[in-house]
Amino acid sequence: MSSPLVLALDVGGTNLRGEVLGSRLGAPVASLSLPTPEHDGEATFAAIEVLCRQLLDRLTPAQREQVEVVGLGVPGIVDHVRGVVRLAGNLGWVNMPLAARLSERLDLPVLVHHDVTVAGLAEQTLGAGSGVEDLLAVFIGTGIAATIVVAGKPVTGGLHQAGEIGHVSIDRDGLLCLCGQRGCLEMYSSARAIGRAYGELTGDPDATSLDVVSALGTDPRADTVWSDAIDALAHGLLAAITLLSPSRVIIGGGLSGAGPLLVDPLRARLVANARVAAIPPIVVARLGQRAGVLGAALATFRALEMERVSA
Ligand SMILES: [Zn+2]
Repeated sequence: MSSPLVLALDVGGTNLRGEVLGSRLGAPVASLSLPTPEHDGEATFAAIEVLCRQLLDRLTPAQREQVEVVGLGVPGIVDHVRGVVRLAGNLGWVNMPLAARLSERLDLPVLVHHDVTVAGLAEQTLGAGSGVEDLLAVFIGTGIAATIVVAGKPVTGGLHQAGEIGHVSIDRDGLLCLCGQRGCLEMYSSARAIGRAYGELTGDPDATSLDVVSALGTDPRADTVWSDAIDALAHGLLAAITLLSPSRVIIGGGLSGAGPLLVDPLRARLVANARVAAIPPIVVARLGQRAGVLGAALATFRALEMERVSA
């Protein structure tokens, strides 16, 4: 039998990125990305179907035969066992039976994974966490979420919600989060929060975290915003490090593009603040924008293997 291929998709708030990959996860057999429709759940579902069909159309008939399964990485609260997205606010999905609906349209089995869990799995296996059994991978973009890997395995939790570090409160009287709680870490240290804080000081409503990074060292307001965001991040991460004692922390997501400007002061603050926890190396993620799609493929291949072993 020829080796199987997986059609992997990373369903992001801005882009849908798809690749057809073999089990070695090397160069993709086919790849494509499309913009994600804004806040329209049905349009997003339709765009996912179009992307899958366009990817399948790029394959030779023999390759098409090798595609055994579609694996998606999706943000929000994901029930990966049932393939249902319980809540993905940015995509406009509530209790979306994604696996069942897409499987019916494509006539292929569909697996649904949590995007950050699988991106962390990819970093652990192929990226900045290679060879490390216990790690915390924190992805900072519009929001903040983490993958926890313990003894080589990603921890999803008995109720499938592990890793939501962005909604750990660091100030019970703090800013009101979209989730309804006060003081959530992502209200202070996400790329969105950093852009907003800079906008409040400069009067520019379109300010972004990239503006802050590029103004570091020349605009004292940018320095203040950046420093405050790193303080808050260190506060939240110290709680996670104290609980989990990872041997490496990986920082990924859009904000990790700041590289040493982010991780060097972050580690310095963690070391200065820690009284109990040992602070591990803090490193930048290595797979960049491909982490999500590689992770979706990896998790899907692992599920295929388990199915073969148990069959
Ligand atoms: Zn929150």
